[in-house]
Amino acid sequence: MAAATPAAMSTENERNPWLAAAARFDEAALRLNLDDGMQKVLRSASREICVNIPVQLDDGRIEVFTGYRVQHSLARGPAKGGIRFAPDVTLDEVRALAAWMTWKCAVVNIPFGGGKGGVICDPNVLSDAELEKLTRRYTAEIIDFLGPERDVPAPDINTNEKIMAWMMDTYSMHARHLVTAVVTGKPMALGGSRGRPEATGRGCMIVTLRALRLLGMRPEDTRVVIQGFGNVGGMAAKLMSAAGFKVVAIADYDGTVYNPKGLDIPALQKHRKETGSITGFSEGEDVDKAEGLFLPCDVLVPAAVENVITSANADKLRCKILCEGANGPTTPLADLVLHDKNIFIIPDILANAGGVTVSYFEWVQDRQGFFWNEQMVNERLQEIMVESFDAVVDYGAKHGVNNRIAAYMLALDRVAFAIKLRGIYA
Ligand code: NAD
Repeated sequence: MAAATPAAMSTENERNPWLAAAARFDEAALRLNLDDGMQKVLRSASREICVNIPVQLDDGRIEVFTGYRVQHSLARGPAKGGIRFAPDVTLDEVRALAAWMTWKCAVVNIPFGGGKGGVICDPNVLSDAELEKLTRRYTAEIIDFLGPERDVPAPDINTNEKIMAWMMDTYSMHARHLVTAVVTGKPMALGGSRGRPEATGRGCMIVTLRALRLLGMRPEDTRVVIQGFGNVGGMAAKLMSAAGFKVVAIADYDGTVYNPKGLDIPALQKHRKETGSITGFSEGEDVDKAEGLFLPCDVLVPAAVENVITSANADKLRCKILCEGANGPTTPLADLVLHDKNIFIIPDILANAGGVTVSYFEWVQDRQGFFWNEQMVNERLQEIMVESFDAVVDYGAKHGVNNRIAAYMLALDRVAFAIKLRGIYA
């Protein structure tokens, strides 16, 4: 592997996801020999919307929240990407997540561009009524840029199908008719797709199985550690454990639970439902929360937030395969360490693409008004994830680059080709 670009070596990108995304972009663009003009187009977001959202709280006070929607690329189709509600949302984070969506949709070759949204708020302190008002006003503020042909949001951290239903209803009230295809990740009763809640975790499992096959490993001998027990991590844990993997640890915000013989995931889910925490589980041992990522395992699935594997801790990882369920969990500097440790990385823009793939299926079903059964969804997901995994690994072998840069190169190439065919409208 050739030396990394100077941007990849900067420690600043260990804190700022946009700089991390840009460093990977620069490296892939350099290797692809993309001309300067095309690099400028692909590096910048098409549109960045910032809105201030007034909400009357339950006690009568008015609070103003700041929200963003970034549409990174519309070259291959409508912008596609989740909405995040969190106190630490920043424009640079949303920018990075939007760009990752462009590359992700191109890696799995579905006809979408990339977008992402975020609202700076703490949903844990908002009542349901306040959350609904915030969601509806945010949707109304960005409504001119949304639509099945323009931009199709989905859930992300701290947003869920209930919030998607409010977004869809707000959009539909303005359109004066029901428009289910404006968001994905909706409840089944409102045009949601079978298999969507499991899709990202299922996709992680499919690509991990493919990596095992490549490395001559078997699921029943494979120990898995998962960080994050939400939509992605919880589903990955459930499906992998049902498929025979030994899920030995779950690390979440409130602690890490460990059982070297394998955790009973449905029982842990029940325990968390009853107690509100994964800690204190009778069939596992509580270990230091910070140590979760460094427990011995074969597969590590970070499925929580960005920048958890950095130059400061990458050397402590004890896995053979890193399957990135979260977006941006590993910094460019950490990549260099993992390369030296010979860890097989399944990069985020491939590993967690199962979610957007089934979101695409949902959009297709909504537009056709014809709904598929779960088997059909899962089979088509399997086909796309396997094809995409193989395409990335083959591309890497052909060009002598690691999986991450291979995924970026494949994606950039596809998006650049679409832009070339369309031309620059003047
Ligand atoms: P979620 O809110 O359902 O779950 C996040 C989980 O991570 C929670 O259990 C939370 O307690 C935990 N967590 C948060 N900060 C943590 C920390 N510092 N250490 C340990 N645990 C922590 O969110 P999600 O939808 O599962 O998304 C997780 C990640 O996957 C995000 O990076 C998201 O962008 C990405 N992703 C999600 C989807 C999807 O379909 N939901 C698709 C692709 C990528």
